[in-house]
This record gives sequence, C-alpha cells and structure tokens, in this order.
Amino acid sequence: MTSPFPYPAHPRTPYPPLVINVALTGLTTTRERVPHVPLTATEIAEDAGRCFEAGARVAHLHARNADGTPDHRRESYAELIAAVRDRCPEMIVCVSTSGRFEADIERRAHVLSLSGDERPDLASLTLGSLNFHSGPSVNDLAVVEELARRMVAAGIRPELEIFDLGMAHLAQRLVASGALEAPLYANLMLGFINTAPADAPSLVALIGGLPAGSTWATGGFGAYQLPANGLAVVMGGHVRTGLEDNPYLDASSRVPATNVELVARAVEQGRAAGRPVATPQEARDLLGLDLAAVPQR
Ligand code: ZN
Repeated sequence: MTSPFPYPAHPRTPYPPLVINVALTGLTTTRERVPHVPLTATEIAEDAGRCFEAGARVAHLHARNADGTPDHRRESYAELIAAVRDRCPEMIVCVSTSGRFEADIERRAHVLSLSGDERPDLASLTLGSLNFHSGPSVNDLAVVEELARRMVAAGIRPELEIFDLGMAHLAQRLVASGALEAPLYANLMLGFINTAPADAPSLVALIGGLPAGSTWATGGFGAYQLPANGLAVVMGGHVRTGLEDNPYLDASSRVPATNVELVARAVEQGRAAGRPVATPQEARDLLGLDLAAVPQR
C-alpha cells in the first residue's frame, strides 16, 4: 500500500500509477438530461469496454429497470456483470448497494449473494447517511455493518464511499471491530450539497482520517469533478469519474459529455502529473484484489 505523502515528495518518490474508476450510469441520470448515459446491460458493457481502452480500470455499475428506475435484483446484476466481462475481461467490476430509494437491506444486499463467475470484485459501501439534491441516502449503523459483514464473507471488497470526515471515522471503527479488513479502497466524494467541499483542506482532512494503508480516490459532483480529480493526481490518490457524478466535460459550455471523454480527461490529468495509467494487474494490486480469485473468462 502507498503512503499518501511520500518523502522526498513525488516525483523523487514516485506515486503509484493511476487507477481510474468510471461510474458509468448512476441512479438518477436520465437520457433527457445526460444523453450519452448507458442504461441497458448491452449499452453499459459497450461503454465499459471503450472506457477500459481509454484507461479506466474499474467500472462502477448500477443496474436499471426498463423504465429507468434502480434495479437491485441479483439476476439483473448477474446479466450486467456477464456482459461487462464478456466485452472487457480485465475490467474490475464494482456494483452498487446504494441506500437511495431503497431502505430494505435484503434488496440492497441481493447482489452480494452472486458467486463464481457472477461475483463482483467490489461493492459500494456508503459509510453513513447524507442528503443529495434528489433525496436522502439512509445508511444507519446496523445496515452499514451488515453490508460490510456480507461483503467480507463473500470475498467482495468494499468500495468505501466517504462523503465527510465522520464517515472516515466510521471506517476506522469498523476496521478496529473487525467488520472491515484492511487494506481498504476509499472513494472520497467531494462537492455534493451535503458533503465535504471540493477543496484541498477538506481532502487533506479526509485522507488523514482514513485507516492506515488505505488506497484512496476522489470523485466530485458536477463542475467539481475536474478539480477533485486534479487534487488526487497531484497528491498521490486515484480518480473516480463518469456520468454518474457529472454530465459535462466543460461545466461552462454544458456540452454533454461521454464516459470515454471523462476517462480520457482523467488520463490526461494523470499524464500531466507524472502518473501513467495502471496496468490491469497494477490496479488489482493497488486495490487489494486477488487476481487468482477472479473468474477468468
Ligand atoms: Zn453509484
């Protein structure tokens, strides 16, 4: 695992190669507002493949019903994961257990019961409750602990979603109690209406609050995606990008973006900071994923 603050500083002690996580679809995006968002399994798999070729190494997936509403059923995720792995066998697959629009833990955890070739590599774990423009994401302590327990039992690594310092604090507590196993992968989500702001002091505090040895990345809401990603590449972290968090490449012109364009932008930010894109094996090593445990297709 990498220290976020090596000494002597980067590039004399080089940061690790960059792992780009692309959140392709999300829960609330619509074709009307985000014209290039992939919604069906076929569309998501094709977009994941193009994003991998552009430099993404993790695909953060949400399954949708035909009417666009969130779909938590394991059968839907099994179809989606198979489609992504058929198109792009080396992509690290991350699924959602989001608490937005779904309170029932059995439905949220349904995807965690997939096994064998269908088992995801990672699953999202939001470490507390918060508000979005579209409504609250409710994650009480018992639900967070149970989701963590089921991920550990299934051999699925959590993608921690941390929106403020209290959530980093909970990660520490869950490691201490044995509910989570280090090393951890944390996405630090900045600039949403009820989260830590997308600025350097907030990010430094969040990094300092993480369990020791965590591999961390930043995501940012809307126009904050670009600076949040930029802070990460110059501070030794990794990147989450994609249309789930931000529909525009350029916030001022409001030209609709594609996921591939957002990945390419992160690749360029990394290149400018001396951070080449991680190989698939390097990405798995950095995220603590056991390659031997991943189904080979
Ligand atoms: Zn998501």
